[in-house]
Amino acid sequence: MATGFLRPTQRVVDCQALYHNVAEEIKLLPQGTELFAVVKANGYGHGAVKVAEIAKKAGATGFCVSILDEALELREAGFTEPILVLGVVEPCYLTVAVEHNIAVTAASLSWLQYASQLLQEDRIGQLTIHLKIDTGMGRLGLRTAEEISEVVRFLSDHSEFELEGVFTHFAKADSKDTDYFKKQNNRFAQALALLPNDIRYVHTANSATALWHEQNNCNLIRFGAAMYGLNPSGRELAAPFDLKQAMTLETEVVHIKQLPANESISYGATYTTTQEEWIATLPIGYADGLTRDFQGFTVLVGDKLVPIVGRVCMDQCMVRLNGPVPLGEKVIIFGNQDDQANDFQVGAEYIGTINYEIPCMLSERVPLVYV
Ligand code: PLP
Repeated sequence: MATGFLRPTQRVVDCQALYHNVAEEIKLLPQGTELFAVVKANGYGHGAVKVAEIAKKAGATGFCVSILDEALELREAGFTEPILVLGVVEPCYLTVAVEHNIAVTAASLSWLQYASQLLQEDRIGQLTIHLKIDTGMGRLGLRTAEEISEVVRFLSDHSEFELEGVFTHFAKADSKDTDYFKKQNNRFAQALALLPNDIRYVHTANSATALWHEQNNCNLIRFGAAMYGLNPSGRELAAPFDLKQAMTLETEVVHIKQLPANESISYGATYTTTQEEWIATLPIGYADGLTRDFQGFTVLVGDKLVPIVGRVCMDQCMVRLNGPVPLGEKVIIFGNQDDQANDFQVGAEYIGTINYEIPCMLSERVPLVYV
């Protein structure tokens, strides 16, 4: 894919904000608790390798990714720290994980049995695993005491696996209502009682858990959204420290005109001027991740919030200005400027999603620039 380096639309990532978010969280952790930076999905769109570099400087001691290719990207960039793949790796690719010392998630006995067969055939050495317990997320993991005990017996007979970690994932750690969190937490405590007590990493915390809950018996957190300055609860809970949004989506005015009343804008002619209006064209559209749902959303031109008028096109969209501005005037689509907050949370609320989704959906066509 061609990245638009020759176009003024950019994902600007503030390295100090990333550093701050990690360092502040580490200050809150009990001694001996490690932080693994979650850099899956290209670091939630911020660039996995660069984020990993900054997180490591700020004190992260390892990384979590979702797929094996993301782990390889980090190894190829030279990271030697522990890496855990959170998704399911198909057993036929496990030689890659062993060769690159990448830990993978073991979420069922049948997966372990199949993996064991292939590892024994290939004789390539031990595979590092973290056992996933499904305490109520309903996505991956062992659910019952019987399943857990069976896996424990299986692992004690199979030296091709090194059990390095055990973990679970909370579905509602980002809410004022803590009942479901407590239910999952209790189930995890029961699961731990069935497992050997010398497992190196015991972990439950995503950002929300790390920010708002005590974690007993754990010594690692998997820190994602909050590292990027995204509040995992949206606006429901206040973070214990200032989360600084790391990314700003910026562009510039590339065309401007004054239209009389009764002129329409963009496909479908869904917007018509009601008086003389200044309309600017911005070089960003749905192929960049600014979906058509953002019609009507306000963006910052200088210090003024102005609306996107008419349909968002594939590569461009139009805004209604309060008056003329020079070509090249900076526009912030998502980000904060002085006292004006127009961040991913505001964008997410506008299209009815969560703040995580917006940086993830911005396209690789928009270059990442680190400041
Ligand atoms: N752990 C697991 C298993 C995840 O799937 C995720 C992300 O979805 C995380 C940790 C990080 O979560 P957050 O971005 O909320 O910190």
